[in-house]
Amino acid sequence: MFGVYDNKDGGGWNTTKDAYTSFVARPDRGKSAFFNNGGTAPRGSYQRGGFGGSGNSRWVEESRDDEDWSKPTQANERLEQELFAGGNTGINFDNYDDIPVEATGQNCPHHIDSFQDVEMGEIIMSNIALTRYTRPTPVQKYAIPIIKNKRDLMACAQTGSGKTAAFLLPVLSQIYTEGPGEALAAQKSGGQDNGKYGRRKQYPLALVLAPTRELALQIYEEARKFAYRSRVRPCVVYGGADIGQQIRDLERGCHLLVATPGRLVDMMERGKIGLDYCNYLVLDEADRMLDMGFEPQIRRIVEQDTMPPKGIRQTMMFSATFPKEIQILARDFLEEYIFLAVGRVGSTSENITQKVVWVEDGDKRSFLLDLLNATGKNSLTLVFVETKKGADALEDFLYREGYACTSIHGDRSQRDREEALHQFRSGRCPILVATAVAARGLDISNVKHVINFDLPSDIEEYVHRIGRTGRVGNLGLATSFFNDKNGNITKDLLDILVEAKQEVPSWLESLAYEHQHKRNYSHQGGVDWWGN
Ligand code: ADP
Ligand code: MG
Repeated sequence: MFGVYDNKDGGGWNTTKDAYTSFVARPDRGKSAFFNNGGTAPRGSYQRGGFGGSGNSRWVEESRDDEDWSKPTQANERLEQELFAGGNTGINFDNYDDIPVEATGQNCPHHIDSFQDVEMGEIIMSNIALTRYTRPTPVQKYAIPIIKNKRDLMACAQTGSGKTAAFLLPVLSQIYTEGPGEALAAQKSGGQDNGKYGRRKQYPLALVLAPTRELALQIYEEARKFAYRSRVRPCVVYGGADIGQQIRDLERGCHLLVATPGRLVDMMERGKIGLDYCNYLVLDEADRMLDMGFEPQIRRIVEQDTMPPKGIRQTMMFSATFPKEIQILARDFLEEYIFLAVGRVGSTSENITQKVVWVEDGDKRSFLLDLLNATGKNSLTLVFVETKKGADALEDFLYREGYACTSIHGDRSQRDREEALHQFRSGRCPILVATAVAARGLDISNVKHVINFDLPSDIEEYVHRIGRTGRVGNLGLATSFFNDKNGNITKDLLDILVEAKQEVPSWLESLAYEHQHKRNYSHQGGVDWWGN
């Protein structure tokens, strides 16, 4: 069956949407032996198998060989509604214009000031209009032309600065221009190898790796928007959810794959995914992936399988921070890359008002209630705690006190976590108690207040957590409860507050000073000689 109907003559066989219509529309084909009724055969006759019985569903795919991926496919009003209903709220990018951006590397492409400054094609431009993005954010201004120029990229940017679209727009635009290439042929022979039941190995053209299921889902949703009216089918795979269902979805076609590392390795080992033609690799929240211990899986995916090597594929890494381990990964995965730093690497946004208050453990709950009561009814508050148990306990407490709240942490099932996020986002439960798992990458708009009920022990985690508010130019508030147990973060916290031009409590300053002294003078006996 395969190849019988391959059309190499450039005739009217190759439009996906309506192969039949374009075929009969051609006067020279109108009298074809297949259609003796003069080209008026109903579409149904072709669909029922007029061209050779059961093979015809395959035939439609075969016929896609030389179709033009840069042309939009038919609009679908219902899907359009679904994808673009969300809209953007209260975005104020003007605040972003003063953010310093630094791009370093050989022959760095010039940045753009508007989406129109770079040729991204019809599909992308109309989807940008549908999302109502009027202008690129700073990271987008720089990253888009860099990626369009086929350069590797290491980008550090504040949370909420629009990194997702910064890579999705140019990568998808490239795919639309270039079409499926060899991947399509591989797909077909994969089909033959695996029998005729459609259990075919998929060869995505682009791969986005993300640390958590929530983030992977979010990137996938964004990808669906920018893939609207294109021939690219985005898929997502992540752990903790039914693998059978994910496999079935992959089998319907996968050109852009968003994945968490563990689940992807599983899919590769089951022969469901081949990375042989994956010419675009994106590592989002790379720092977080390493923190979560994914480095072996990432290296397995990128270096020890069939993915094209660096220099052949194009690789983009995104991270809010740039610690040593990320620098090493960048050196190993990227080729002559451009380094992009938006704002100070690892710093927080001035859009966020940061408050640090001294609260003993025993007073935390009542202090929290005061804060919640002072917050407007309709605004979302995200409360971070250190442990899963702590999250459950605090949720119970708030519930008993009559607050509509929910929680998200590692022990809750995937379904519960998604449900909780949904309840929170929609405002039905405007208070979300979370452990660090929720801290990174989640784009929850309208979070007005982030409360560190328990402060984290490292400053990078702090930066990520408070980055859940003040997103994309909106103003936000972050309040952190501090006491004796948080000594280890004192100095870094002070630096961050000063850096972001925040008010610094005097007790924090003197604590930081004491810590400094303790470190410098501990060899003299470590006595508390400075005054208390
Ligand atoms: P980051 O990954 O940097 O933390 P995201 O990519 O999650 O940020 O983007 C944050 C929010 O900003 C999302 O809701 C996204 O839809 C929105 N956004 C991104 N780019 C633009 C833009 N150019 N104009 C308006 N909104 C944007
Ligand atoms: Mg992100």
